[in-house]
This record gives sequence, C-alpha cells and structure tokens, in this order.
Amino acid sequence: MSQTSTVDRDAKSGPFDVERVRRDFPALHQKVHGRDLVYLDSAATSQKPQSVIDAVTRYYTEDNANVHRGLHALSERATASYESARQKVCRFIHAAETHEIVFVRGATDGINLLAQSYGRSRLKPGDEVLITHMEHHSNIVPWQIVCEQTGAVLRVAPIDDRGELVMGEFERLLTDRTRIVAASHVSNALGTINPVEHMVELAHRAGAIVLLDGAQAVAHGSVDVQSIDCDAYVLSGHKMFGPTGVGVLYGKTSLLEQMPPYQSGGDMIKSVSFQKTTYNDLPYRFEAGTPNIAGVVGLGAAVDYLEALDTGAVRAHEDDLLEAATEGLSQVAGLRLIGTAARKASVVSFVLDDIHPHDIGTILDGMGIAVRTGHHCAQPVMEHFDVPATVRASMAMYNTRQDVDALVQALSKVREVFA
Ligand code: PMP
Repeated sequence: MSQTSTVDRDAKSGPFDVERVRRDFPALHQKVHGRDLVYLDSAATSQKPQSVIDAVTRYYTEDNANVHRGLHALSERATASYESARQKVCRFIHAAETHEIVFVRGATDGINLLAQSYGRSRLKPGDEVLITHMEHHSNIVPWQIVCEQTGAVLRVAPIDDRGELVMGEFERLLTDRTRIVAASHVSNALGTINPVEHMVELAHRAGAIVLLDGAQAVAHGSVDVQSIDCDAYVLSGHKMFGPTGVGVLYGKTSLLEQMPPYQSGGDMIKSVSFQKTTYNDLPYRFEAGTPNIAGVVGLGAAVDYLEALDTGAVRAHEDDLLEAATEGLSQVAGLRLIGTAARKASVVSFVLDDIHPHDIGTILDGMGIAVRTGHHCAQPVMEHFDVPATVRASMAMYNTRQDVDALVQALSKVREVFA
C-alpha cells in the first residue's frame, strides 16, 4: 500500500520472492473449473499460510483446554499460547501495553463493543458521532443504533469523485458537539488510504475520540497505533492471513478504563455474589465467556508470518501490482474505475459497460478467477458513484503480475460474450 508514517517504514526493501511466498499458501495451488486458481479476493478474506493452519491444528491436537481456568498442564499451555498471541499483536500494532489488546470476533464485533460500551454510556442527546461516506456497513450501523439509543446525531463526512475524503468538510463537521469519530484506515470498496494521523489530530483538537477501522489496513504491513495516536483500532484476523472468527479491539488504557462491560458472564469478573459483582481487570473485562482460543493462537501465527517478511518489499510488490492493475484495466474499453485516490491499497473496483458485476463475476469464476462483486457492504459508496455494484479485485502479497494479466485478458473475453 502506498503509505506514509502510519506503518513502519524501517523494514529493509529488497527483491521480493513471490513464488516462495506462494508456496506457503496451500489453497492457492488448486484448479477451479479446470483452470489454475487466480485468487483476487483477499479484501473479503485472505488465504492462510501453512504455519497458521498448523498452529490451529497443533492447538487442537496437543493443547486443547480452556484458558485462564485450569491448573493442569494443557490449560497452562493453552493460556500461554493465548496470552503470547496478545503480546504478538501488541508488538505488531505498536500498542503501549498488552492489556490494550482485547480479543473479539472481528472488526464488526470490536466496533459494536466500542459503540455499545463507550458510546452508549457516554453519548447524550445532541452529541454527535462523525463517520465518513466510505465506511463499511460495520462502521455505520453500530453508530446508527447507538445514536437511536442515546439521542445522539450521526454526521457523515463526504467523499469526492476519486473516493477521497473531503478534508475541508471533515474539519467543518468536527465541532464541540462531536464526541466520537469512526473512520476506516483503508476503504474496502475503493482502496483509499485515509490520512489518519491528520484526522486524529483534528478530531482530538475538537475534543473527540477516534476509532479507526483497520480491517483492510493490517494485511499490508504493521500499523503503529501510537504514532497514529488513535484512541481505538479494530482489525479482523481473517483479513491478515489468520483464522476467521477472531479479531482485535485495541484501546488506549485511558479509554478502556472508562468503559463499562459490554457482554457479561464468565472470565470478565473478579467475584460474583447475588448482592454485588466486581469486574475483572483489562483486558479480561471485555472478554466474557470462552474465547476463540484456536483463532487467537492462529492469529498469533499470522503475526509471526507477517513479521518474518520484509515489510518494505511486500509493500513495493503490492504497489507494483496495484499500478499494473490500474494500467491494465484502464486499457479495457468500456471499463470505469471506481476509486482513484492518490493513496490506495492494492484494491481495484470497477464497472464494465452496462454488464452487471454479478455476470462478470460468474464468467470470471468460470475462468478460475475469484473476484468479489456486489456493494461490498458499502452501499453509500455505491450510491455516491451511482452504480448498484462493482467488481472488486483485491490483491495480496501472494498475487503476481500474471494474476493481474489474467484478469485484464479475461475482461476482454467478458466484453466479447456480451457484445
Ligand atoms: N470494515 C472493513 C473496512 C471491512 O472491509 C470489513 C470486512 N469486509 C469489515 C469492517 C468487517 O469485518 P468482519 O466481517 O471481519 O468483522
């Protein structure tokens, strides 16, 4: 992703061996409808390296036990792996303290936690929550619900025709009534990378806290939550080469300490009596019930995998793919790119003539090419660009120039079919 200081730029750049990386991902090596799979849907979910699959298998094969509960060897091992994954994520996103990492089900769950715990307990009638027009539904609906519950008002900062946030309007909408700003770090439908440090600075000046939705950012390199200075950050394991059903809500200690429990039950308490219950310390206060232990262990392995790579080289490779895809697709007659921001992650959304994206997706699938078609859980973005849906090809570090070429060539075939 074309990125600046929000991600660690120290990593050495060098030649990137995409074939070596591809060997780590077993699902990539299969035929679909008799053709070699071309997987261009990593923004929906990324494929998993063997090391992640092995970590999950190993947990179930050798360590399976509940965490934080038993004194027996298996439970101690399971707890150690679970807590070690917390340390890995803490280091990966550069959080200040391990207890700032709360394991949740994914980005959606993390946003709901923040909205229902912080938002619901804090917002008063007339307070405002500011989001942007490019948000995923997961970063819209939880705020609509909490606004309905509290009488707060939802404001939306507009985007322009390139799919960039209109910063002047964002700044104008930040007032002394704004309590929470919730924005994507990287847009899933457009690929736009938002100027998050600047947004956080402006929001803090207005006295608001900032939640960033990092679901699409973390697969492209580590994120530095302290340098961004956001108050909260969410991510999903399955979009960063880890398992489904696990994710992270990062919150600054000062924020998490103010938040009442969201879900309640086992593990989030210190003591329970019918007269009074006292809650556990951070982060356990927000991890009620038996967590997705295997998922967390797998997420830890995904972080290990990412950290062993040369971040600078991965990013350069993805930037090359983005450039090649943008250039190649621009040559396809009748194709309109949706989302042409100056700073983009390796995502290309487009429409082709008046062919319905679902038809395009079906024909591409027949050629072994997996893309996503639809509104990408971002209907307001579709409305802005006046399209019902788009085709989205999203590239990860294991994609190649051949994958991009295959897509571009296949689209010419699609046009022939519909001619
Ligand atoms: N935000 C963005 C930007 C996303 O791309 C997604 C997943 N498409 C989500 C939130 C929701 O993530 P999950 O479904 O893993 O909770």
